[in-house]
This record gives sequence, C-alpha cells and structure tokens, in this order.
Amino acid sequence: MQLDSTPSPLPTLPLRFGTPLTENSIRVMMLGSGELGKEVVIALQRLGVEVIAVDRYPDAPGHQVAHRAHTVDMTDPEALLAVIELEKPHFVVPEIEAIATDALALVEERGAAVVIPTARATQLTMNREGIRRLAAEELGLPTSPYAFADSLAEVQAATDRIGFPCVIKPVMSSSGKGQSTVRSAEDLDAAWDYAMAGGRVNHGRVIVEGFVDFDYEITQLTVRAVGESGQVETSFCEPIGHLQEAGDYIESWQPQQMSAVALASARDVAEKVTTALGGRGIFGVELFVKGDDVFFSEVSPRPHDTGLVTLRTQRLSEFELHARAILGLPVDTTLTVPGASAVIYGGMEAKGIGFDGVAEALSVPETDLRLFGKPESFTRRRMGVAVSTAADVPTARARAREAASKVRPVG
Ligand code: AMP
Repeated sequence: MQLDSTPSPLPTLPLRFGTPLTENSIRVMMLGSGELGKEVVIALQRLGVEVIAVDRYPDAPGHQVAHRAHTVDMTDPEALLAVIELEKPHFVVPEIEAIATDALALVEERGAAVVIPTARATQLTMNREGIRRLAAEELGLPTSPYAFADSLAEVQAATDRIGFPCVIKPVMSSSGKGQSTVRSAEDLDAAWDYAMAGGRVNHGRVIVEGFVDFDYEITQLTVRAVGESGQVETSFCEPIGHLQEAGDYIESWQPQQMSAVALASARDVAEKVTTALGGRGIFGVELFVKGDDVFFSEVSPRPHDTGLVTLRTQRLSEFELHARAILGLPVDTTLTVPGASAVIYGGMEAKGIGFDGVAEALSVPETDLRLFGKPESFTRRRMGVAVSTAADVPTARARAREAASKVRPVG
C-alpha cells in the first residue's frame, strides 16, 4: 500500500474559497454517498466547493448531486488510494464505516489530504471494541457492562458474569446487523450464529453487552469546529430522541425532554468522547438515559441518521454543520422549531421503484419529504424520510408518521 505522487500542500485556515472546476477550487471527497452523504454534498455545493462522491455502487444518492462520481470498493486500500491520488481532494470525508481505514491513516500521515475528523477516529469507531475500550477503559465513561468473545464458549463465559438479558453484536457491524437480545442461555447458540452471519467482515468476534433497561435513548449531536478563538471548540445540538426497531431507527424527534442533570451528563460524556477522537466535524453520540443516569453506547464521527430531523428543526442542519466544520467555518446549533422524522422503507425487493402518494404526504401541515433516489429497493431499505415541524414534539411526530405512511412504494 503506497501513495505515489507528492501531495500538494494542504489548504490553511481560514480558507480562501475558489471556483469549482477551476485550478483554485476547494475539493472535498465523500467516501460513502448515501442519503446522509447526499445532504453533505448539497451543503458543500452551496458553499461553492467542488465535490467528488464515492460509493461502492453506481448512481448512489450522493453521486447524483456531486461534480464527479466514482464507484469504488472502499474496503480495498489500493482502490481507495488510487481514487484519492486521481482526484487530489483537500478533504476526505468518510460517511460510512466500511472503509480501509489504514489507507486513510496513510493519507493523513503523508499530508495528502485532511481526513475528517481524523483517521484514528475512523479506525476506532469502525470496530465496537476500539470505541468501547476508549470510552469505558481510557475515559472512564459509564457504559453497559460488556465483554468480548471469539467463540460460543467465550460468549457463555461472558454471560456468566454479565447475566441476562444481554445484547450480542458482531464487533464489525452497524444498524442492528447480526445483533440480538438474549434472554436465556438456551438462546445463545442462535445469537452466536446470527452474529457470525451478520458481521461486516467475518472476524468471529462479538461484544456481549448487559441490557440497559433505559427510559429513552438519544443522539447528542456534537460539533467540533473552529470558534471565535481560532481554536477548535465543542458545540451541542438539542438532544434528539429516537425509536429503534431491529437495531434501525424508524422515528426521531428534537428536542427530547431531559432532566437538567441528565442533559449535563450527556454533554459531559459527548464532550469527552469527541475530544478524545479529535479533528473537526459533527459527531452523533448515542446515549441511553435512565432517570438522571446516562450510559454511553456508540459514536459516529459523521452525521447521524436520526439527525435527518435537523433538516427542518435547526437553523443549520447537521449536514450544514458538518460542511462548515470541515471547511473551518463558524457554526450555529440553534434549534428553531420542534420537529420529527419518520422513515419510509422500500417494502419490496426491486430496482427503479416508484412512489405514489407524495402529494398527499406533502399536504400534511409543516411537512417535507426526502426521497433519496436509491437505484434499488429492499424490504427494509430506507428509501426516504418525512420531516415535520409543529409547536410541540407529539404533534410533529404524528405529522411525520402520517406523511411517511402516505408514501406508497410501487414496483
Ligand atoms: P447499536 O447498533 O449498538 O447502536 O444498537 C442498536 C439499538 O439496539 C440501540 O439504539 C438500542 O435501541 C438497542 N441496544 C443496543 N445495545 C443495547 C443495550 N446494551 N441495552 C439495551 N438496548 C440496546
């Protein structure tokens, strides 16, 4: 694995903005161009940035709105380095976890591009073990009890200590893939087999977590951006509450009501973990809350799917905040109105599907829709989202759910 060309000097802050498609353009490469990447691309485009979108399949949502698009297996370090050398971006912005992060470390080390937020952050968060050990063992943050296991026997030993119910997850997985909640020893065999089938790469390693009987869970969006001091400062968005089904989010809302003590703890945990990961950008810190107690679960060093609600609730969405933070610009995390999002699933396995009921959905008051433009639908693939606002969260949630239910995917 190597970078052949001599890198051009990295831009210094404050940036001089250029003109896309000319010699002085500021170039950003998105690694992963799904629905979250697409919104980041649009936010960057609006600031006059030249954007190159990369994904593993053609015509990904972000491909459709970028200056240039590449289809690359981003888990292949040579292929990843080749596209970076070809395009010579100033900033490389991972949007997904399944990336050859060693190649990103080389890019950063050689000064070939700025990796957002840092190559180390992408390495630590792509593996549940890296981030859990950082959070619990180095930073001393409260988490569920946990153990790592490489075999069914080790899983059994772990549950002797952790007890039931517990949650078993492949260390290399996200969005609930291969994850199960186990209530008794009889179910361990099935959970182990399921985890082995669902991991991103079959490492055969799982995390066994004690089940946290939380009152609610939140995403604490946290931005590290250059502040008035000229240094990187931390800002917080209002907490986002969300509902998960089979490890995937189906509804989110903002703000989530919390006690003052729980909110202060959430921000303390978020500040510690994002400071340890470093760099600039937005982070989605996932936390479980029980009474005034807050438990760290995970962190994404990038926009978070539950944060799609911020497209309408904040003065700057999480995507605009990310774009600003990447480019060394000031941020503003002001919430302007309560709101909610509800996911629209494909509901079928087919390519090039249609959507009926869009006008009905948009006749729900204070409601917007995003149809992501994914070329292929799966039953449980997120194809769109409804985002609604209202004077209060319950009304916004009802509106978003109603709007999402009116959109009917058709083959
Ligand atoms: P994850 O992929 O780790 O974010 O997990 C997906 C979802 O599963 C979370 O958002 C929670 O709703 C649930 N979950 C994961 N781990 C636990 C746990 N230790 N206790 C309770 N619920 C959990």
